[in-house]
Amino acid sequence: MKYVVVIGDGMADYPLKELNGKTPLESAQIPNMDHLASKGVNGRLKTIPSSMEPGSDVANMSIMGYNPEKFYTGRGPLEAASIGAILEDGEVAFRCNFINEEEGLLADFNADHISTEEASELIAALNQKFYRYGKFYLGTSYRNLFVCKDGKKGSLKSTPPHDVVGEPISDNLVKPEEDERARIVNNIMCQSQDVLKNHPINMHREEKDKKTANMVWLWGQGVKPEMESFYSKYGLKGATITGVDLIKGLGVYLKLTNIMVPGATGYYDTDYCGKAKYALKALQDHDLVFMHIEAPDEAAHAGDIKEKIQAIERIDRRILGKLLDGLPEYDEYAIAILPDHPTPIALKTHTKDPVPYAMFSTKGESDSVARYDEKSSEKGSQGLMDGFRFIENFLRYSSI
Ligand SMILES: [Zn+2]
Repeated sequence: MKYVVVIGDGMADYPLKELNGKTPLESAQIPNMDHLASKGVNGRLKTIPSSMEPGSDVANMSIMGYNPEKFYTGRGPLEAASIGAILEDGEVAFRCNFINEEEGLLADFNADHISTEEASELIAALNQKFYRYGKFYLGTSYRNLFVCKDGKKGSLKSTPPHDVVGEPISDNLVKPEEDERARIVNNIMCQSQDVLKNHPINMHREEKDKKTANMVWLWGQGVKPEMESFYSKYGLKGATITGVDLIKGLGVYLKLTNIMVPGATGYYDTDYCGKAKYALKALQDHDLVFMHIEAPDEAAHAGDIKEKIQAIERIDRRILGKLLDGLPEYDEYAIAILPDHPTPIALKTHTKDPVPYAMFSTKGESDSVARYDEKSSEKGSQGLMDGFRFIENFLRYSSI
């Protein structure tokens, strides 16, 4: 049996008046998702525990079969692993965004999608200035890292920058502000402006009328998580295909093979067909592939209804369509489609609402649901369950 789990980041949504009271999933033309829903079984997953923030890291950890309440230590260490920065005991990793600050406000959480080449030069300048405190690591585009020593455990509270766009920076620094560690991190954030503002990369961006990367934002800190490998827990050789660092990092800790797809960008222009082709190829020597596609989430953060629907339709046509064409070469296969969490267009950020899923197996039964969307899944035979039960449920369903 071969398994594919297709995760469309942030696909689930709320009804929109612009769509006559329908959600993007309900409005999109998604014959392949509907096919899985009607030939397979459906249900809803609580991928975000009530006590936790609705991030893609927590949600994807759930989907991969690990209870985030038990294993999640922060987003930073996951992204660190993805670029080969393995944390030592007593080290803490922060996610480091390049952002745009304007008149004291957080104007853009991704500095206009700054390129990795540009980010690389800015990271070098930051390391020259702040080497005493820790080390900045280059990731992809605006998504980078900062690793420093942290003897103490304990809770610093940092804020995801995409949640506070347009808000004053001074209200959203790391807390408690009187904590020595928070003070150091906040100083680095504020003083990064001196290094970045007049950096040639930013002067060049200004000339081209692009937003500058004039500040770093440190958040999502955590120490190394202790997780059993996917193979030892589920007995399957697994792989991931994703353009997003934190999902790759989850893969590193779970000892999944991270399959590099040329052209997988984690943005609208990602190479969908390439991802499907590589997934089919990976199944020759793996049992299960997690495919993660970021584009619907990016469109929802931007509040772009048309782009979100298009991203969903592309996943349907170019990923599911290609998989459903290619999978029959393996006699027995199972495939599931789901978002990690909702990213409602109206809110432009993630929520904790349960997500709809459909799964089909050449050996499994089907239920009465005919369409794949938020409402239809409520009538599915699988009901509502915790997200970290998904994998065991998927395996059980597929082996009946
Ligand atoms: Zn997500």
